[in-house]
Amino acid sequence: MRDKHSSWYIKINGIVQGVGFRPHVYRLACEYELKGWVLNSSSGVFIEVEGDREKLKLFARRLVEEPPPLALIRSCEIDEIEFHGYKDFSIRESDAQDDRLVMISPDIAICDDCKREVLEPADRRYLYPFINCTNCGPRFTIIKDVPYDRAMTTMAPFPMCPRCQEEYDNPLDRRFHAQPNACPLCGPHISLLDKNGQEVETELIDLLKQGYIVAVKGLGGFHLAVDARNAEAVERLRRRKRRDAKPFALMARDLGVAGRYCDINSVEEKCLLSPQAPIVVMKSKNCPEISAELIHPGLNTLGIMLPYTPLHFLLFDNELDLLVMTSANISDEPLIIDNDEAVKKLSGVADYFLIHNREIFNPCDDSVITVSPLDKPQFFRRARGYVPQGIKMPVLSSAPVVLALGSEMKNTFCMTRQGEAFMSQHWGDLNHYNNYRNFLEGIERFKRMLAVQPELLAHDLHPNHQATRWAKSQTNLEIIGVQHHHAHLAAAMAENSLEGEVLGLICDGTGWGTDGAIWGCEIFKGGYQDFTRLGHLKYLPLPGGDLSSRKPYRMAFVYLFAALGQEGIEMAEKLLPDLPREERDILLNRLNNEKAEIMTSSCGRLFDAVASILGICNINNYEGQAAIELEARANPGAGGRYSYLLEEREDSCLINVLPMLPQLIADKDKGVAVDDIAQKFHLSMADVFYDILSKMRDKTGLNRVVLSGGTFHNQILLSILVRILEKNEFKVYQHQQVPPGDGGISLGQAIIASEVKCNVSGCAR
Ligand code: ZN
Ligand code: ZN
Ligand code: FE
Repeated sequence: MRDKHSSWYIKINGIVQGVGFRPHVYRLACEYELKGWVLNSSSGVFIEVEGDREKLKLFARRLVEEPPPLALIRSCEIDEIEFHGYKDFSIRESDAQDDRLVMISPDIAICDDCKREVLEPADRRYLYPFINCTNCGPRFTIIKDVPYDRAMTTMAPFPMCPRCQEEYDNPLDRRFHAQPNACPLCGPHISLLDKNGQEVETELIDLLKQGYIVAVKGLGGFHLAVDARNAEAVERLRRRKRRDAKPFALMARDLGVAGRYCDINSVEEKCLLSPQAPIVVMKSKNCPEISAELIHPGLNTLGIMLPYTPLHFLLFDNELDLLVMTSANISDEPLIIDNDEAVKKLSGVADYFLIHNREIFNPCDDSVITVSPLDKPQFFRRARGYVPQGIKMPVLSSAPVVLALGSEMKNTFCMTRQGEAFMSQHWGDLNHYNNYRNFLEGIERFKRMLAVQPELLAHDLHPNHQATRWAKSQTNLEIIGVQHHHAHLAAAMAENSLEGEVLGLICDGTGWGTDGAIWGCEIFKGGYQDFTRLGHLKYLPLPGGDLSSRKPYRMAFVYLFAALGQEGIEMAEKLLPDLPREERDILLNRLNNEKAEIMTSSCGRLFDAVASILGICNINNYEGQAAIELEARANPGAGGRYSYLLEEREDSCLINVLPMLPQLIADKDKGVAVDDIAQKFHLSMADVFYDILSKMRDKTGLNRVVLSGGTFHNQILLSILVRILEKNEFKVYQHQQVPPGDGGISLGQAIIASEVKCNVSGCAR
């Protein structure tokens, strides 16, 4: 009988921790009557298993082919070993040191099994808002320290009742080792408060139906919820939040409801229904039921998410199926996570508060993605559902631990460990003290969570960024300054596992250049070690710096004056009614004295200028508004091109778009629709970029191009450009794992620092 038996040692790598992999192995082993053990370690899952050879084969096949929903197997190695003669199959305890290195899972949207139970009147967790299991529920937002078990989470004050404990201890139960396991008897509870913080006995759903604004405590912070179809209520929310133009996100009861408001393709559907459950920004339908002007002014897209916690199911019924769900923060301040703070800070905004007594430890915004016309998901914001999932970097696992501090706006930081990059959630604009404080606190938490001490700090070259100042105050650590657009380039390379040298087209709003100018439309040749600037958008003055970023009409004036001189000044009179005469005179004065001005090659400012000249947007109420509205207006059916010049200089090639302006204005004067002009401008920009990249390919012999920078959130520009480049046999790489904008910068800084350091100190290759 022994000869029919085998003994195997199996090593599995990938995303196999905190996703119910061990119970999955246990159940399969039991099913095939196999003996041995399974062990979780920081370097993967190890299995020793013995029994009938045929059954072993079936076991191994199903192990790989039917992994738990959240697992991702990257490799599976099997070795035949000596027969041991185990009596049973067991789940072995991993040692504490190793446990610390086991990765923490992101928060996971409620799974189908839990959804079924929570809506089943006979179930003991019927309508219980904190139902969860091994495959779903809170993780990152409730974890205070590692190793990950209940005592280290904000579930610590809720000891499990005997029935929950039984589930937790039973390897065949789907709540085996589910740390946040809870039920109405032993777990957290919700309460409804009025604006004075007094508990009320009203039905929540009735309040929402009456148009009240309810602050709802979610997974990573509070939301403000209001009936999306009640225009008066939405208007009240906008007014009270003092949010003039920024679009609101929506939560739809289910996919069918979402489909009434947006055209949803199969990739978008997959994203909406994914365990990460992000906000998906999609093409909106013309739908008179909701007020476009109040929900997404100036845009033809809507951001929608589906309920991702059991608590969210309490907010909907057959009549109320669409809510505005916007993050509850005060302007650019951090997300509110604490009950008392919510009542105190939001009393002028919310009418009621749906709170609960489980603490949120790590604040985490909703993630926001969009699916490009090339059917690829792209991040606007990578947070809930994804953080702190590691991203594989093409570096040696022996590379030093790097802490990369990210950018000033849309900040994320990035910490590395053994060849993986761990990006933080978004902290927002670090100029706000509370964001900065959370950022510093977040760094300490990541250090604990990853059990690492950074050896090397990477920061942006901008001398006045908060993070740069902080880096320079850390005298015990080595620090490396990284140029902003080089970091963009490296981030795009890293997430595509590229090595060597590539061409990079980096387009965004603002980044500190090595010559003291503000860069933002750059053609690089380079890799992780260094870069050469082969070309850029021709410099123009940026009078008043940030002031000109906030007021697109200022850049419009700069462009008109540069392109047309005196005639431009006269045109500004007609085209820029929002530009006050005194401001114009000050600008003119400054432009005549150009030497004293900061110069910029910013692509964002060019889009601002065009949006303003076309009368689409004159003031940015939120970052990127003019460019986003310009994209929204573009009519995909239109054609045509405007002229431009590529000016070859000794050491670089300059993109001169000034010839576009008189043509564009002539179109406008002829009565060509603004939507057609907007499209023609996008087509022209794609042409310029293709043209200069072709020249640089000829010059350098490099055929791989990475596209990065906030401008590539522009799906029209991105898709037109990628198509032209690919048609002409370029290998094009774009962002899919981190945002193309500044939220992705820290990944690039981290890999650059890592590689530069390894090159200097000669890490073993
Ligand atoms: Zn579940
Ligand atoms: Zn219980
Ligand atoms: Fe940038």
